Amino acid sequence: MPHSNTAPSPRPLQVSIVGAGIGGLATAIALRRSGHLVQVFEASEKKTEIGAGIGVPVNALRVLEHLGVRRENLKGVSYDGITAFDATTGEGVPRRWLLPEMDQGRSLLCHRKDVHDELMRLAVGEGEGPIVQLHLGHKVIDCNPDEGTLTLKSGEVAHADLIIGADGLHSTIRTSVLGREITAPPSGFSCFRTLIDSSKLKDVDGAWITDGLSGTKGITCGSADFRLVGAYLCRNGSLVNIAAVYTDPHQDDKEWSPIATREEFLETYHDLHPKFLSVFGLAESPILKWQLRVLPVLDTWIRGRVALLGDSASASLPTLGQGAAVAIEEAVALGCLFPLGTRTEDIPSRLEAYQTLRKPRGDYVNREALEQATVPSKRALYLRSREVQDYLLSHDAIKEAQEYFEKHFRPSM
Ligand SMILES: Cc1cc2nc3c(=O)[nH]c(=O)nc-3n(C[C@H](O)[C@H](O)[C@H](O)COP(=O)(O)OP(=O)(O)OC[C@H]3O[C@@H](n4cnc5c(N)ncnc54)[C@H](O)[C@@H]3O)c2cc1C
Repeated sequence: MPHSNTAPSPRPLQVSIVGAGIGGLATAIALRRSGHLVQVFEASEKKTEIGAGIGVPVNALRVLEHLGVRRENLKGVSYDGITAFDATTGEGVPRRWLLPEMDQGRSLLCHRKDVHDELMRLAVGEGEGPIVQLHLGHKVIDCNPDEGTLTLKSGEVAHADLIIGADGLHSTIRTSVLGREITAPPSGFSCFRTLIDSSKLKDVDGAWITDGLSGTKGITCGSADFRLVGAYLCRNGSLVNIAAVYTDPHQDDKEWSPIATREEFLETYHDLHPKFLSVFGLAESPILKWQLRVLPVLDTWIRGRVALLGDSASASLPTLGQGAAVAIEEAVALGCLFPLGTRTEDIPSRLEAYQTLRKPRGDYVNREALEQATVPSKRALYLRSREVQDYLLSHDAIKEAQEYFEKHFRPSM
């Protein structure tokens, strides 16, 4: 028989991702770059991120740049630390990151839309690997993890070798993975979110936002009625993002509204120093109001051909600013564990590896973010603890997943 010395080219996997949020798109890019055929099913007709800011810490920025993100497209403001303000006196104590290598521009503060737009460009634009097929207005209503099928609201059934559930807090895919529905109960905390045009700061006592250490300005107040405000410049300094968490016993009320007025926002923080209120007074109604919900730690993130990722796996409070960051890390880990040449029979062991590598970190962020709001002695621990910062910020998700792959899977490929 004639001998061929050219090996058949490996078959790319058919991958379906549910959800085109930051986690789903980052995963689509990572798997596209590995050479796989990726489809993303997104329920909303016109997917974009909400009008709010997001901190992109160094552990996530490192991954984004590896995936091809151009830093200038993020229009970020340097996130060099957090200035902790006393709510009553208005005095601030700047706290740089406790890790010297994290200084100056290694983390960024961005507008969510800028991050999402850049991920979209890398997913559906020209680039390395097959272009991602994005299906907007395609809500998934069921998943069979063993068969690798998704059922869409339209009745259509989509087959895949690998399915990633990046469908957020109210995940449908999570129910299929766990075999039962797990809903996130009210956490007792809600959050106002607003963006202010920073050119208006000159009209008020707004220097506390613009001056001093480049980064988040944090105001913590109350004990029983815990409140935490994080304010920062984003989009090249042209906008101020404000996320203001407060204790909210009314989360399950029928009248609870996802929008608020400036008056409601100001009333919630009426006892703060006037310089804070002068900036909050620039917010324009309506203001977004968000119920913060925390998932319990899940028994598993994987089943059959399916894995959960991001908020569908570990949604928590925003106290550490790491929810999207760990989703981005999880995305690149999948890219490393599923190179071109991965066979369908390899999928279960690769998903086991994904869970082994990623779940402890996702669960840590889930629990720690909650405790840093609910356990008084742990409040603002992130600012004080080199250990916590080191665990979160120094983590190299690419190196970890590549090393794991080389050790456990390379020899059998
Ligand atoms: C106030 C606040 C501040 C935060 N700040 C930070 C921060 O500074 N840094 C940080 O890293 N994280 C932060 N986070 C957390 C971060 O926002 C989330 O962890 C992250 O956005 C989750 O991304 P995701 O892609 O997993 O989910 P989502 O963004 O929720 O995306 C899920 C997507 O799935 C789609 N979807 C849902 N169900 C279906 C379905 N059945 N079929 C098809 N599509 C579906 C949805 O429409 C959506 O587009 C913050 C969160 C809050 C609330």
